[in-house]
Order: sequence, then structure tokens, then C-alpha cells
Amino acid sequence: MNSEQKLNLDQLQRADAKHHLHPFTDTKEINEQGTRVIVKADGVYIWDAEGNKLLDGMAGLWCVNVGYGRKELAEAAYQQMLKLPYYNSFFQCTTPPAIELAEVLADLAPRHINRVFFTSSGSESNDTVVRMVRRYWDLLGEPQKTVIISRKNAYHGSTIAAASLGGMKFMHEQGGLSLPDIVHIDQPYWYAEGGDIEPSDFGLKVAQQLEEKIIELGPDRVAAFIGEPIQGAGGVIIPPETYWPEVQRICDKYEILLVADEVICGFGRTGKWFGSDYFGIHPDFMSIAKGLSSGYLPIGGVMVSDKVSQVLIDRCGEFAHGYTYSGHPAAASVALANLRILREEKIVETVDNETGPYLQNRWAELAEHPLVGEARGVGFLGALELVKDKTKREFYPKIGKVGGLCRSICIENGLVMRAVGDTMIISPPLVASKANIDELIQKARQCLNITLERISTLNFDD
Ligand SMILES: *Cc1c(COP(=O)(O)O)cnc(C)c1O
Repeated sequence: MNSEQKLNLDQLQRADAKHHLHPFTDTKEINEQGTRVIVKADGVYIWDAEGNKLLDGMAGLWCVNVGYGRKELAEAAYQQMLKLPYYNSFFQCTTPPAIELAEVLADLAPRHINRVFFTSSGSESNDTVVRMVRRYWDLLGEPQKTVIISRKNAYHGSTIAAASLGGMKFMHEQGGLSLPDIVHIDQPYWYAEGGDIEPSDFGLKVAQQLEEKIIELGPDRVAAFIGEPIQGAGGVIIPPETYWPEVQRICDKYEILLVADEVICGFGRTGKWFGSDYFGIHPDFMSIAKGLSSGYLPIGGVMVSDKVSQVLIDRCGEFAHGYTYSGHPAAASVALANLRILREEKIVETVDNETGPYLQNRWAELAEHPLVGEARGVGFLGALELVKDKTKREFYPKIGKVGGLCRSICIENGLVMRAVGDTMIISPPLVASKANIDELIQKARQCLNITLERISTLNFDD
């Protein structure tokens, strides 16, 4: 970094500290340290203002599926903005990109899902789900069916309804959450919570909590169950194979709507177009965002099954809900260009058949590391459990210290890998090549070695 760059960075960091409140951040702490300013990106790499090049093992925030630097996406936004930068989909209007995107999404989604309501984010999508689910039962003459069952440690976004659906206690503690009539059952997190039970039995057991909860509350009160096919922010938690079929069975038996939050799993992350395809489930709703536009512009949506949309269309009259930017034409154009790339370059198929299995084989090698209790993954998602004692599945005290240390070491060594407690997670761009994957594994191993060396410097008492 030359002195001019240094001056520039100092100025940026000072202005940031003075005026910018960051999401999910201890602002006081970050202001003392100075934020890392990311200035450019290409392919699977990002560069910070100091000139450091980092392999982005998280695809931004799970979203840059086609990688950085795609001119086609910039071009799509540019052309659409010149022609029609904005018009809404309210009041009997809409725009060509919104229509075309709805059509493409209906084609990609499971066959029983053919309609989409557009939003600008995953949180807005899940807020919309709450409105639609309750409206649906109301229209069927069951207005008392309002309860939505979710899972502890789920992440569904950060608006009031989305954070209420989520099961993150530390979020509920701020701002008077959760909304009424949202309840949480256990998550299918075998490594941390399965004890001596076989994973397959554990999967069934936690799925059956759904049935117990429905019976406890009364099936006439329960409207829906929501879950991420694979929990992302909670720590890339992959349910045992027995879990989703049992959840589907229970939803079918009690006629409870099934909501799949596909915000991370959608658009190829698992090697299938949707996590629901991967697990063979048939949701009534799919929340989408992130990979829909590879994050180039904000756009999300709720995909709605024929069964539900028919009721909403035939009986609802005006559905009193919507966003200024629902179906935003520039964002929709970018999403269309993104989906075209995913299709034409066969990126989802490549993750399924080639690079996904390659990543998983190489990721599994990390399980031999003395710090790693489990290395798990699906497609282009992966997690490592950092533990004190592998044989006993015993974590270090003060969960989060070892993970935080490892994350910092990764950044110092040119790798973005996120820590959730002491679970290290990756979600790389879907375009990562085998050479990129080799580099990721090599860096991850090196960082695990350094972490192990430095654990003795941590103070677990405070
Ligand atoms: C990120 C995320 C959301 C929230 O999306 P935003 O665009 O941040 O509002 C919702 N659900 C899941 C599963 C997510 O990972």
C-alpha cells in the first residue's frame, strides 16, 4: 500500500466510524479497529483497500453464485436503466422484465409451483410468507389457523416477522421479538445435539417434534412449518436423510403448509436448482433471494404452489401487500441475465456432477486435522466443527473464541471463511474451478494449523 492509498483508507475508515452503522456489528469495536474496505472483485476473488487479495469462500453473503465481474449482468442493468429504470407492478401495471422473470422462475421451480410474488430481499420474502399463509387459511374459513412452527437457530432474515420466524435467541432479545403465534422446535443438528443417537434416528426424532407440537397446539391452530432445507447462517446444518421426508409426511397428514426458505439453497447451491429438489420435498411456498441475482442487485420473491395461489387468486380480492420495488425492472433484468448464465454455462449441473463432488472429497480430507471433529457438506456448502476432543465431540469452552481466531487467521492468509460459533463454514461462488478449490483447501488447512498453534494464547476464562 503506498502512502496515498493509506491516506485514502484512513479517511474512509474515519468517515465510516463517524457516520455508518453496520448491520450485525458491534459498531464500537469495529470503529476502534477500522473496517475492512473491499474495493474490487473478479471471479472468486475480492481485494481490499490495502491491496490484499482474498479468495471469497463465502460468495459475498452466500449470494454471488456466478462469481464477480460478470459484464453481462452489468450490461443488463445498464440497458434496462436506460430504457426504463423503474416502474411498479401496482395498479394494473408491470414491466417486461418482471413478467419474463416470473415465467423463467415458474419453469425452473418444481412442477406444482408456477407463480411468484416479487420482493427485494429474503427478509421481505419471509414477511410476505407470513401474510400469505395467514390470509390463505382465513380465506378458507379457518382464521384461527395462525401459528407458524419454525426451528431454533433458524435464520429467515432480520425484519420483524422474518427475525421472529428465525430461531436466533440473540436476535429475539433485541427489539421485543418475537411476534405472537410463532413457535420453535429443535433443529436437526446432529453433531452438536444428537448425543449418542444414530443420525438417522435423530433426524426422525427432531422431525417428530413437529407432530408433537401440532398435537399440543391443536391442528386447527397450526398454519405452516418453515425451514431452510439446509440451515445456512446457523452453521451449514445438514439434516440427516430421514428428516425432510418425515417433516413432509407430518405436514401432509395434518394439512399444514410447508414453507422452504430457499434463500441460500436456491439457484444451484446444493447442485440442484432448489434445496427442495435436493431433498425431494414439495413445499407450498419457496422464499428466494440471494442467488436469484447473484447479489448484483437486490431482488427476492416468494414462489407459491398452484394449490395456494388458486385460493389467493379466486377468493382474496385485493391482497393488501406489496413493495415499491416488487418486480423492479432493472433488478429483474439482472436476475434474468444471471439465470441465463447459470443455464447456458450449465453451472448447476457442473456443481452437481463435477466440482461439487470434487469440493466435498477435498473438504472431507480436512476431517483428519486434529482440530476438526466433523467436516460435512453438500454441493457448494461446507462446515468444519472445531473441537477440543474429536472422539468425545467436545467443543472448547466459550464457544466462538476458537472460531473467531480461525476466521481472523483465514483473513490474514487470504481466505474468507466465516465462523458460526466454533463452526467454520464455506459457500463459495458456484463457478469456482478445481484449481480454486485446491487453493481453498490448501489455505483452509494452513489456517487450521496456525489456529491450533495459537489456541494456547486464548483466554477461556473471561
Ligand atoms: C440471508 C437469508 C435471509 C434474509 O435475506 P435478506 O436478503 O438478508 O433479507 C432469509 N433466509 C435465509 C435462509 C437467508 O440465508
